Amino acid sequence: AKEMGRNRYLFYTEELNARVQETLEYELGLRQALARDEFTLHYQPRVDVQSGRVVSVEALLRWRHPARGIVLPDHFIRLLEDTGMITPVGEWVVRQACRQCREWHLAGHDGVRVAVNISLLQFRSNSLVYAVRRALTEAGLAPQFLELELTETVLADDMGQVLAQLRELRGAGVQISIDDFGTGYSALSYLTQFPVDYLKIDRSFIQGVGLREDHAAITRAIAAMARSLHLGVIGEGVETSEQMRFLQGIGCNVMQGDLFSPPVAAEHSADMLAIDMLA
Ligand code: C2E
Ligand code: CA
Ligand code: CA
Ligand code: CA
Repeated sequence: AKEMGRNRYLFYTEELNARVQETLEYELGLRQALARDEFTLHYQPRVDVQSGRVVSVEALLRWRHPARGIVLPDHFIRLLEDTGMITPVGEWVVRQACRQCREWHLAGHDGVRVAVNISLLQFRSNSLVYAVRRALTEAGLAPQFLELELTETVLADDMGQVLAQLRELRGAGVQISIDDFGTGYSALSYLTQFPVDYLKIDRSFIQGVGLREDHAAITRAIAAMARSLHLGVIGEGVETSEQMRFLQGIGCNVMQGDLFSPPVAAEHSADMLAIDMLA
């Protein structure tokens, strides 16, 4: 038993070392990634199922790691936040997304909007409003075509500071949505205080539709609440036509998920704007 305990200890230490090693490696790599042009955005469409058209597109960050290939954000967003790198990288994301959206417009898809994920840390930097305005001007994109996605943790933070910045952005015409709605801080009163345009129903609820009555009930409740507060509602992570029909049935007509398209690289992004997503 003593021997086993010791082995287990060694095993944990090795695993821990490997993790620390990976973090160190990623941190070094991330510090150079912007300069080396290793970040890229993939784009996932949101479809209005009444028309089959793409109404907006979410920009999702990817890291083209020189040795590991495409690394997904769950492996490095936290590290970007912990090191403060999320501010310059986040500003790059906004700039790049605005440019891409302007390109779509120039290619004839002139109603489409682009959505960008914004981390809480970006609100703390105090350069967000300026960076967003500059990105819009540089790209020649009208503000109503940019949507910022925040999670509920942003709203639960320093209310005053976040609220001031959100009001300024919304005042400039930028749209605001609450991401992963229903999974975070649940004092719903903030919905009446914050300038918000859309709720995105978290995919964990949508994936429970048809399997768990409680998840179906939450999804229904969010859609009803959005309607009575005059907010738009987006269903995310839609993978099956059963989930799609359920959402349609409760009046949620804008959907995003692998059923329609996974996130795609920029060079293929214009293709999905041209086709009927339901055909
Ligand atoms: P999120 O904002 O909730 O983005 C949706 C995630 O769900 C994306 O994962 C997307 O690829 C995935 N997804 C879409 N449709 C489906 C589906 O039908 N089934 C399943 N299982 N998954 C689906 P991704 O791209 O790996 O991004 C993960 C998270 O990383 C995002 O979650 C977001 O919180 C964060 N993130 C991504 N890009 C950025 C960024 O530029 N800035 C910041 N701060 N965070 C970002
Ligand atoms: Ca999002
Ligand atoms: Ca989400
Ligand atoms: Ca999420």
